[in-house]
Amino acid sequence: MEDLDFRLRPRPRVAVVGAGWSGLAAAVALVERAEVSLLEAAPQVGGRARRVAADGESIDNGQHILLGAYRDTLAVITRVEGDVRKLFLRLPLELHFPGLVRLRAPRHCPAPLNVAMALACARGLDWRDKWGMLRLATALSLREPPSGMSVSSLLAAHGQTERARRFIWEPLCVAALNTQAHEASARVFARVIRDALMHGRADSDLLIPRHDLSRIFPDLALTYLEARGGVVRTRALVRGIRTTEAGVSLRLDDKTEEFDAAICALPPHAAAAILRESADAAGLCATLESYDYEPIITCYLWYPPGTRLPSPMIGLSGAIAQWAFDRGSLGGAPGLIAVVVSAAARLREATGPSLAESIDAELRREFPALPPPVRSRVITDRRATFRCTPGVSTPACRLPSGPLYFAGDHMIPGYPATLESAVRSGGSAARLLLADLLAG
Ligand SMILES: Cc1cc2nc3c(=O)[nH]c(=O)nc-3n(C[C@H](O)[C@H](O)[C@H](O)COP(=O)(O)OP(=O)(O)OC[C@H]3O[C@@H](n4cnc5c(N)ncnc54)[C@H](O)[C@@H]3O)c2cc1C
Repeated sequence: MEDLDFRLRPRPRVAVVGAGWSGLAAAVALVERAEVSLLEAAPQVGGRARRVAADGESIDNGQHILLGAYRDTLAVITRVEGDVRKLFLRLPLELHFPGLVRLRAPRHCPAPLNVAMALACARGLDWRDKWGMLRLATALSLREPPSGMSVSSLLAAHGQTERARRFIWEPLCVAALNTQAHEASARVFARVIRDALMHGRADSDLLIPRHDLSRIFPDLALTYLEARGGVVRTRALVRGIRTTEAGVSLRLDDKTEEFDAAICALPPHAAAAILRESADAAGLCATLESYDYEPIITCYLWYPPGTRLPSPMIGLSGAIAQWAFDRGSLGGAPGLIAVVVSAAARLREATGPSLAESIDAELRREFPALPPPVRSRVITDRRATFRCTPGVSTPACRLPSGPLYFAGDHMIPGYPATLESAVRSGGSAARLLLADLLAG
């Protein structure tokens, strides 16, 4: 009935501003029901999860990892690609700090028993570490931590040992929330742990991209959109956005353009910048401007071909970086290792070459036989994600004055900034927009 209703109306003209994963997901959800124009300021789509060129090779703006629990992301990739399996290396959850700790979830065991089994069989943790972790995991499955509590306070309140904090909880916190444990929201952390570890067995699986990030979704989404009449415009910087009597007006460099409705799929600071001329957006702008951000640094080190890590993803126990990925074993250039430094505000002053040297030295302490790297490249995203502290508030998902909707990785209440939050928010904004147009 809904579909029939839509077929009898002219297709609405809808603008999606921002072609990161949230804007792309929104456009994919809309394109069969609306005339979609996707406007992106950069020369390419993909936003914070895309390929970049490095001396003739493709690397990513930052190493990413997905989880089996990313349902909306896997669904939209399936929609544009058909088969997600070939895009990722799928591994049961594994935290491997060579020579120190190894915790691996068994492949064929239902959740949450797989977590208990992983703990029971973990190497490098004693019974006190394991018993404390089991108690905390059980507590998190039963009740939410207080809203103002930090992850460090949560770990202290539940008597976690030094090893459990250092090798399990704190690395998981920094990886999932991109925020140091003493600042991170315990409530958000608990939700992520519950979603990933306590529901389906496959939810905790790690999905490591086998290709560059643009090939995982943005390129496929572009093809999908253009095949269905969607218009994708890059180098289209939107400078202002406001609701009008007829819908939404966008101001670009040389003109204004009118649409029946729009989705603004920008990070908080960029959304606030274009909303300033909207009379009824003052409260929303205040919320958008209240976000703090955390950088993520990815250091690519090209070692001679044949250089391998013991696993595709390993934990690092030094002072700078948290994870190293063997890109060579994942389909990238042989010998290429990507090292990730999350919650990197503490390294604000560090520069590319000296940071690469320090990271190489850190890797070398773990693997003394490593040959010297041939070259390196450090990529820092200063606003990689919002800082996920207690009490971060989520902005409204539409303006009261007209059909202007919002998407982005900050738009899912109680969750950190991830690809899944971005994609889920894009789909929700598209559904809300279509429902309103249908009702109106
Ligand atoms: C280095 C790094 C590592 C990460 N690792 C992970 C990970 O392992 N797992 C995970 O799930 N998540 C990870 N994330 C987070 C994830 O990449 C983001 O949550 C997600 O990409 C955000 O998508 P988005 O669409 O909300 O925003 P964005 O990707 O920021 O998209 C917004 C788009 O809008 C465009 N734009 C801005 N202003 C304008 C304007 N005025 N007019 C037109 N266009 C405009 C921008 O150019 C951009 O393309 C990582 C992020 C970074 C940076």
